[in-house]
Amino acid sequence: MATTLFKDFQFEAAHHLPNVPAGHKCGRLHGHSFMVRLEITGEVDAHTGWVMDFSEIKAAFKPVYDRLDHYYLNDIPGLENPTSEVLAEWIWQQMKPVLPLLSAVLVKETCTAGCVYRG
Ligand SMILES: [Zn+2]
Repeated sequence: MATTLFKDFQFEAAHHLPNVPAGHKCGRLHGHSFMVRLEITGEVDAHTGWVMDFSEIKAAFKPVYDRLDHYYLNDIPGLENPTSEVLAEWIWQQMKPVLPLLSAVLVKETCTAGCVYRG
C-alpha cells in the first residue's frame, strides 16, 4: 500500500524575474517567505509503521535549504530566472538523488500562489 508523506520547510529569499514584461512588479527586486513541501511516496514498512523517518527528510534537505535561505536566488546557478516553477524543478534535481522516494516538490511564494513539480 503506497502512502505519501510530506515535510514542509520555510525559507526567506530575495529574487527578481528577469524575463517578465517591462513594468511587471515581479521584475523588481523583492523577497518572499517561500514554503517548500517535499512529498515522499512509498510502502509503509511493516515493522516501523512509516515510509521514512521525517528527520531523514529534514537532514537530506538541509544542504539545499542552506543554499536558499536568506540568499538572492538569481545568483544561484540554475536559478537565474527563479520562478516558482523553475525553483521547484531545481529543488527536485537536487533532492531526487538523495531522496529516491521523492514524488513531488511543492513551492509556494505567497499564501495563495504556488506550484507542484512531479518530475
Ligand atoms: Zn517574487
